[in-house]
Amino acid sequence: MARSGLTRRDMMHRAVSAVVMAAAGLGATRTQAHVSGRVVVVGGGFAGASCARMLKQLAPKCDVTLVEANRAYLACPFSNEVVVGARTLSQQQFGYHGLEKHGVKLRFAFARMIEEKAVILDDGSRLPFDRAVVAPGIDIRFDALAGYDQSASEIAPHAWKAGPQTELLRRQLDAMADGGVVAMSVPANPYRCPPGPYERASLIAHYLKVHKPKSKLIVLDAKDAFSKQKLFTKAWAELYPDHLEWIGLSAGGKVVSVDAQAMTLKTDFATIKADVINVIPPQQAGTIARNAGLADQSLWCPIDAARFESRIRANIHVLGDAAIMGAMPKSAFAANMQAKACAAVVIALLKGDAAPELKLVNTCYSLVAPDYGISIAGVYQPVDGLMVDVPGAGGVSALEADHNLRETEAQLARGWFDTITNDVFG
Ligand code: FAD
Repeated sequence: MARSGLTRRDMMHRAVSAVVMAAAGLGATRTQAHVSGRVVVVGGGFAGASCARMLKQLAPKCDVTLVEANRAYLACPFSNEVVVGARTLSQQQFGYHGLEKHGVKLRFAFARMIEEKAVILDDGSRLPFDRAVVAPGIDIRFDALAGYDQSASEIAPHAWKAGPQTELLRRQLDAMADGGVVAMSVPANPYRCPPGPYERASLIAHYLKVHKPKSKLIVLDAKDAFSKQKLFTKAWAELYPDHLEWIGLSAGGKVVSVDAQAMTLKTDFATIKADVINVIPPQQAGTIARNAGLADQSLWCPIDAARFESRIRANIHVLGDAAIMGAMPKSAFAANMQAKACAAVVIALLKGDAAPELKLVNTCYSLVAPDYGISIAGVYQPVDGLMVDVPGAGGVSALEADHNLRETEAQLARGWFDTITNDVFG
């Protein structure tokens, strides 16, 4: 039965979280009071801030400095609700006082370079480290899709980093006349938040259905298969048959160029004109990771997933969206899990011990409508340096389920966001 499917998955989450905590040595009783060392963490997002905080919790004598470019963090999860006016950007904003309370030293600056044993900031100052953790998230590739550069993004926003872009897309949807066409371009893998574009498509379709019923969203996708696809497509057929059209790769969905002035997206077969265009472009690891030589030709950072250490540079760990994690998706949930485990790894290595064995869990919730949630969960372990799925673990929401269950999952999604943001920034 559908409801028992959810219960099983919830039980699995709890069991696996316990495994993760135990395996990574994160229990409160395992505080390493005698471990010291200098750790510099670059990037105060879900990965970096979680890691800095956990390092201080586990090893209070460690000297932990978090380098973050901005004084306030804008979270992407739930920013799709900002796009459709169901939430404000201020609800996505979190400060760093909580980390300060835990003894993390804060440096609000842009890290420019990483020398052998020091992070160099924009003002030239050096932060020496025994180990560094680099978690800068993603950069948009403005060289990867013909016609889509920074200035084009001011007309056809990506809104894939929460902030002014999110609000621009919101204003454009708001201003569009009923009967207008919205077009969205979705990239090939890998990119931040695999189910994110489909959640956004769902919420835009919901917005159109309620507020602009003569309008339509066309989703042009560079893939044929995507996360939670059966659940999304079933829900779209039921909820948005007149408001959402998805065109996959084999049906000609791959966008090959953007003309923001003409408001068109070109595929191999057609030119689509729209009133609002959301281009989710190809992405890459954040600038500092690439400048520090941590990325390979893929523009992402190869690591040994058993200790999150760079395969290119010793003593530097890479976490979150910037890293090549194998089967583990680029999500806030995953970043937070990796960060906690990485803190335990760094402490073990500072002590001269072997890194603890890891098993990590990830759950990605998506809203198909404000009261309709679905999810996918996975369990991962490092094998040959990459995170791989633990066979038989994890799963997705039941395909057949009543409305109560979907509503429960939407509530779980909101609860998850409150919990994780409190865990990281509270
Ligand atoms: P980020 O969160 O991007 O943090 C990187 C930080 O590093 C930033 O604060 C940045 O300012 C800082 N930084 C970068 N370079 C420097 C530098 N040189 N010097 C100093 N600071 C620097 N995930 C989920 O789990 N669930 C969801 O429901 C979900 N929904 C999403 C919806 C959308 C629309 C999007 C776009 C993403 C969503 N995600 C979701 C994915 C999630 O947001 C990312 O996976 C997560 O933010 C990755 O964390 P991170 O720490 O690696 O990077």
